Amino acid sequence: MGVFSPDYIFPDILAVRPAWLAERGLRGLIVDLDNTIVPWRGDEPTPETITWFEELRGAGIRVVLVSNAGGHRGERMGALLGVPVVAPAKKPMSVGYRKALALLQMPASDVSALGDQIFTDVLGGNRAGVATILVDPVTPREFFLTRLVRLFERRFRP
Ligand SMILES: [Mg+2]
Repeated sequence: MGVFSPDYIFPDILAVRPAWLAERGLRGLIVDLDNTIVPWRGDEPTPETITWFEELRGAGIRVVLVSNAGGHRGERMGALLGVPVVAPAKKPMSVGYRKALALLQMPASDVSALGDQIFTDVLGGNRAGVATILVDPVTPREFFLTRLVRLFERRFRP
């Protein structure tokens, strides 16, 4: 069950403090979009989320948004938050993680991946060799297939 187990669990992104990451040598961060930094299909990060991205930058932590969603939402969000974007990323496949590590210009050992889903964010991150951080979804509203997946996910939630 190792590949389904996150290294760390937090209630939300704001609880993941930039200093805490920096202390662990995790100077690169791969961040999921939907239901991690905004509600599913949401387009507006909260002021707290924008501040959190600024704090990461201040702590010297480089961020890449890695989302399975296509379209322009990811690009727009990246521009808003001042970070590069890989989308659609095909998580948990390795291609998106390889691109993200190339953008960060860092080895996997210096990077963590943060997201709300075990079968995409945690599985993909673990397979890519980065540290994995699981957060609760921002809202319960989401794609019906994702809701179905969560029924299975429950078995793997610690
Ligand atoms: Mg997500």
